[in-house]
Amino acid sequence: MRRALELLMNKLPSHSAALVSAPHHLRYLTGYPSGESWLLVTCEKAYFLTDSRYIEMAQRTVEGAECRCIVKLTDELGKLVRQHGITAVYVEETQTTAAERARLSAALPLAEGELDAWLSAMRLIKTEEELRKIEQAQALTEAGFEHILSYIREGVTEREVALELEFYIRRQGAQRMAFDTIVVSGANGSLPHGIPSDKPIHRGEFITMDFGAVVDGYHSDMTRTVALGTVNDEQRMVYDTVLRAQQASMAVLRAGLPCVEGDAAARRVIEAAGYGAFFGHGTGHGVGLEIHEAPRLSPHAGEALLEVGHVVTVEPGIYLPGNCGVRIENMVVITENGCRSLTNTPTDLLCL
Ligand code: ZN
Ligand code: ZN
Repeated sequence: MRRALELLMNKLPSHSAALVSAPHHLRYLTGYPSGESWLLVTCEKAYFLTDSRYIEMAQRTVEGAECRCIVKLTDELGKLVRQHGITAVYVEETQTTAAERARLSAALPLAEGELDAWLSAMRLIKTEEELRKIEQAQALTEAGFEHILSYIREGVTEREVALELEFYIRRQGAQRMAFDTIVVSGANGSLPHGIPSDKPIHRGEFITMDFGAVVDGYHSDMTRTVALGTVNDEQRMVYDTVLRAQQASMAVLRAGLPCVEGDAAARRVIEAAGYGAFFGHGTGHGVGLEIHEAPRLSPHAGEALLEVGHVVTVEPGIYLPGNCGVRIENMVVITENGCRSLTNTPTDLLCL
C-alpha cells in the first residue's frame, strides 16, 4: 500500500470514509494512471470501483485497494457504506459538481469536510520518487527547448513553433504536454497566456515560450523568452528587469519563508524599475500531479510558509500591451537553507 493511502486511512475519523475521483488523486493514492473511477477509503480498507472499460487496467496498476467492476456506482457504494457502518462520507468538494453531489447524497451520508484540503496538504511535500519524476519531465522540456532554438527563424509562425516543440517532446517520451503550449511573439508577447497564432516571427521580436511535459502524472513547467536578431534598449531593459526579479526571488526562497515574501522579492525589483503595473500575476505556483497546485508565491498567499520539499515555479514577467512581453520561469525545490533549481537551462538573453 502507498504511504499516501495509509496516511489518509489514519486521518479518517472512525465510521467515516473518503470518496475520491479526481484522476491526480487516484494516481497519488493508488498508482492508477487513468480516470473515470472511484476510490472509497474507509478506516480499515480501500475499494477501487470502475467499470468494464477500465477494470483490467485497474487490476494491473492499483496498489492497496480491492478492485471491483461495477455496474451502478451508487448501488455499490451504498452496499459498502452499510457493510462498514459508515455514517459520514467526505468527497472532494472542488472536484465534485453540484449534480454529482446531489446524485451521491441520495445514496450516501455525505459529510461537509476538507478532503481536498487534506489531500492537497499531503501532496505539498514531494518525496524523492516524486522529485525524480518531475526532473524527468523537466529534462524532456529542456531537450525540447534546445531543439526549438535551431528551428526558430524569420517567417515561421507561433503555431509552427508550438507544434514542433510538442512533437519533439512527445517523441522523446512525454506522456503528454503539461498544458496548452504558449508561444507568443512581438506584440502578442503582452498576452501572458496567449494562444499560438499564425503570426510569423520577425527579426527584432521577443518570442516567449511557456511549456512543459508530463511523466508518470508529474508535470514540469518552464518559460523562456528569446529574441530573433537584435533587440532595442527598451526590450533589453525589460528583459534585464525580469531576470533580476527572478534572481531576487530565487535568492530568498528557503524553508520557513512566508510565500508572500517569495513574491514580494520579485515584485519589488519590477516596481523599482517602474514596471509594477505590468506584472499582474503571482510570482510562482506549486507543481506536481497538477500543473498549478499549492503553495502559491503570491501577494494573496496569506500566512503560508515554504517547507523543505515544496516544488514551486519562479516566473515573474512584464507585459507591455501592444509592444512586447517577457517571462522567465524556473522550477525549484525548497531546501533547508535555500532552493535548488530543477531547471538547468540558462536565463541570459539569447539572441538567435
Ligand atoms: Zn509556465
Ligand atoms: Zn508556471
